[in-house]
Parts: sequence; C-alpha cells; structure tokens
Amino acid sequence: MAKNKNFHPDVKIKKSSSGLGLYCMRDFSRGEKVIEYVGKIISNKEADRKAGRYLFDLGNRYTLDGSTRQNIARYINHSCRSNCDAYRDGYTIYIEAKRKLKSGEEITFNYGREYFDEYINPRGCKCDYCRKRGGS
Ligand SMILES: [Zn+2]
Repeated sequence: MAKNKNFHPDVKIKKSSSGLGLYCMRDFSRGEKVIEYVGKIISNKEADRKAGRYLFDLGNRYTLDGSTRQNIARYINHSCRSNCDAYRDGYTIYIEAKRKLKSGEEITFNYGREYFDEYINPRGCKCDYCRKRGGS
C-alpha cells in the first residue's frame, strides 16, 4: 500500500472533556513520534497578523501554520501535565511521546507560556490536571 500522509491509523479524533481531542489507538513508547504537525510555512510577519493556537515558531523568520484541515494534530489539546511534546526538526514539527502512552489515551502537549497567558489563563485552564487540582 502506498504511504499516505493523510492516513493515520494510530490516532483518532474523538470527543474529549474539552470538545474534540486526539487519542492514540495503540501503545507508544517514550520518545516515539506520534504524529507530524503539518502546516504551511509562513513568514513571522504574516503569523503576527494571524495569531491563534495553531502557529509554531520555526526560528527567526518562519512560522508553521497548522490550521490546515490536513493537520489532524491540531486536535491535540493543551495540558499543563502533558504526555507529549512538540519537537522541531528544521522546518518540521513532530509530536513525540514524553512517556509511555497507552492505547486509548488522549494525546496532549503543553501549548507554552505565551499561548497559555493569552488564551487559556483568562478563562481558566480546563485540562485534566488543573481540573483535578480544583481549577484556578
Ligand atoms: Zn491546565
């Protein structure tokens, strides 16, 4: 079978506590690549005008805009105690398992300070970790 970039048998979009989320459909080991965060490479100037949650800094000049429909990694929710991290390899962003993932677990990563302060903090963080702590 030909390799299709838009075919992701290992993950699935499902309803989560905060709308939709991305879930793993098999176990992943620590450090394993779960999915690529695909998008369009735009200039930082353009990114400043757009803003939003799907933008990834690629260094001094470029930003990855992951708002494209092909990017199912955009369904990954923020967590303050995430099980994945986003890693940059040149102009490519990968979501990698920070620890062992069990099949059926929701995939999360930390969106970072800037995003948190601007978009999440004003309405309170709804991630599992914060809700268990009683919210803030
Ligand atoms: Zn949180």
